[in-house]
This record gives sequence, structure tokens and C-alpha cells, in this order.
Amino acid sequence: MKANVWAGRNRLEIQDVPDPQILNARDAIVRVTSTAICGSDLHLVDGYIPTVKKGDVLGHEFMGEVVEVGPGVRNLHVADRVVVPFPIACGACFACQDGLYSVCENSNPNAGMAEKLMGHAPAGIFGYSHMLGGFPGGQAEYVRVPFADVGPIKIEDDLPDEKVLFLSDIFPTGFMGAEMCDIKPGQTIAIWGAGPVGQLAAASAFLLGADRVIVIDRFPYRLRRVQRTGAEVLNYEEVNVLEALRDMTGGRGPDACIDAVGMEAHHPTPAIYAYDRTKQAARMETERPYVLREAIMACRNGGVVSVIGVYGGFVDKFPMGTVMNRSLTIRTGQCHVQRYIEPLLDRIRAGEIDPSFVISHRMPLSEAPRGFELFKHKQDECNKVVLTP
Ligand code: NAD
Ligand code: ZN
Ligand code: ZN
Repeated sequence: MKANVWAGRNRLEIQDVPDPQILNARDAIVRVTSTAICGSDLHLVDGYIPTVKKGDVLGHEFMGEVVEVGPGVRNLHVADRVVVPFPIACGACFACQDGLYSVCENSNPNAGMAEKLMGHAPAGIFGYSHMLGGFPGGQAEYVRVPFADVGPIKIEDDLPDEKVLFLSDIFPTGFMGAEMCDIKPGQTIAIWGAGPVGQLAAASAFLLGADRVIVIDRFPYRLRRVQRTGAEVLNYEEVNVLEALRDMTGGRGPDACIDAVGMEAHHPTPAIYAYDRTKQAARMETERPYVLREAIMACRNGGVVSVIGVYGGFVDKFPMGTVMNRSLTIRTGQCHVQRYIEPLLDRIRAGEIDPSFVISHRMPLSEAPRGFELFKHKQDECNKVVLTP
């Protein structure tokens, strides 16, 4: 089959790779009908997530048609249409029982690698490095889906792929980012990053009752897109973000701040950018945590900093003093997609939200490397790329 393969830093190739096979009783094979490029893929392509190898198939946001099931999968049948969550989870372990699917204790066969870096291992993730399981991803014609009886959700009505595809990742992620803010009526939520994740976090914050949502980025076309959710926007190349947020909230600061940017933040002040950029390039620090620092500084006393942007390793110059002295709470995680997929499908069915508003580009899987270029460099007003095998 054809798949989009990591061929080195900043090198992607469409290659012929072996067709996936059923390996375990609870596996299914899915023929991918739609898949997408995620901001998380950029961290892999740019070489900042350790243990990615040449030949790895990328992609963790996908849906398709079941073409084969193992003998342990009773709830899915050949020809079912399914959306597949990006974290792989067994559904039965201590973490899964608690709804913490992205830290499933049974789905990461390379847990030992992750433990060295992280202390304990998170779950396996499709197409997301060997440390996270080494599973071939969904930017391919077919995928093996482990624990297929737990994660995938059947789409039984005629909702088109584009409306439900993002249930695999960015809609639940944006929603979890907002949910972690414990939003109460009247509250103001600030979000860094007007990418597709920030846009869906903004829409979700309104669904959860936020009064005001303020989104920060530098690309006017992305800020315009997020304004469709009702959010106010700040261009950090035009204003001082900390001052603007203070002014907009009567001096107190936003009730909660969402980091929807992660480890490759762009930095408006050259000096500190040079510090993080150099240390990251030399692999002395794995992150460029500008947004994390700014979100912490901006948040009101006693507020929540909700981190859905992905981090991979170690952060320098972390303002722990302000976190501690101002009683901030930091909440974070790879999204526990399985927990949200069903209720969010209900919201799509009910017409409360249509996440397809994030899509800017559609192309065949064979053009995935071009799609990555556009998405990475924010060219041609690229916001979200959907690929069809
Ligand atoms: P994206 O690259 O499309 O968007 C990131 C946006 O951040 C860009 O528009 C960029 O201009 C903006 N940005 C950069 N520096 C900034 C700064 N200093 N201030 C404000 N904005 C800044 O990516 P995306 O697909 O929207 O994903 C966003 C993040 O969410 C990524 O880190 C991704 O890995 C992460 N993610 C996490 C999960 C999860 O489960 N937690 C799931 C999906 C994606
Ligand atoms: Zn993702
Ligand atoms: Zn589990």
C-alpha cells in the first residue's frame, strides 16, 4: 500500500510499505477514507520528538471502513464506517477505567523507552514515534487498529467524513482544553494559537459557557477564521499580549489560559527566542516554551493554565515562582479522546457545531508532502489539510 513516510528531518515521502495484518485478536484493519495533518505531526517532521525512525508511517487523525476484524472484536463488522481515536487504549486497565485513555497501561509495547525520559510511560499513539509504541499511522491506505473493540466509534448515519473526521483528535482535544478550564458563566478564557486546535478550543469554550474568548496569534487569516466562533482576537505582532489581556479584563487577567501552541512557539522578542531556539537546535532544551511562560504570566490569580499544546521533554526558565505564589493550577494531557468521542458526535448530530469549519485544503494522500509544506509554513492561508487515499 501507499503511505506517507518520515524519511528524515523535514523529509516526507510517499512510499510503498507492507499492507497491515491482523496480529492480535482485538485488532481490526481499516481502509482509510479520510485523514488529516495535525500540528503534532509538525513536531515529528521537525525532528523534536525523539525515537522517530526513517520509514515510519505518520498520521494519527483518520477514519475509514472496516475491512477485517480479529476474533476478539464483536462490536465491529466488515463495512462499518468508523472514526478512530489517536491514542490506543485497552479499555480495561487502571488508567482506562478512570477515563485516562491517553495514559493506558497496556497499549505501549515500548513503555521502557518512554520511562527513561518520562518516569512512567503514556499510551501508544498511531504514527507518533517508537517511544509511543512504534505503531504505523493513518496517513496510509490501510491501518491496523489495536483494541478495535474499545476506541473506534461507528458512524451509522450519513454524516460526511469531513464533519466527523476531527472526532479522532482535534475536536476532543480543543474540547478537553476548554473543559480543563472549569469554565463558569461570566468567565473570560484566553487561548494562544489560532491553529485548528485553538479554533476548536475557542468553539468549545463557548459551548461550555464562556462569556468571552480571546485568541492570540500572528496570522491574520487564522485570526479571521477563529473570529467565526465569536472569539475576540489579538495579533501579538501588533500588541503587547500581557498588557492587552490586562486591559481587556479590568486588570485582573483571564480566568483561564489555554496553550494551544506547544513546543515550537514563535517568539516576538528576539533575545529570548534566540536563547530557546539555540538550545533547542543544539538539543540542550527540547522545547521553545514561550507561550507556556506567557500563559502562566497572563493568568489571573487562582486561575487555570490548560496546556494542550504538545511538549516532548524539558523546559527551561519555567516561572514556577508565579505558579506557586499566585495559586495557579496547571492541567494538561494528550487528549483522552475515547472519553469525548460519543458526546461530541451527539453535539455534531444535534447541529451545535460543525468542526469542518477548520478545513482549508483537500488533496490526495499522494500529495501529503506538499500538504505538510503548506501547513508548516502557513502558506496559501493553509489552516487544516484533509488527505484522501
Ligand atoms: P498549528 O501549527 O496549525 O497552530 C499553531 C499556531 O500557534 C499557529 O497558528 C502559530 O502561528 C501559533 N503560534 C506560534 N507561536 C505563537 C505565540 N508566541 N503566540 C500565539 N500563537 C503562536 O497547530 P495545531 O494543529 O493547531 O496544533 C496546536 C498544538 O496542539 C500543537 O502543539 C499540537 O501538537 C497540539 N495538539 C495536542 C493534542 C493533545 O492531545 N494534547 C492533540 C492535537 C494537537
Ligand atoms: Zn494530533
Ligand atoms: Zn488501558
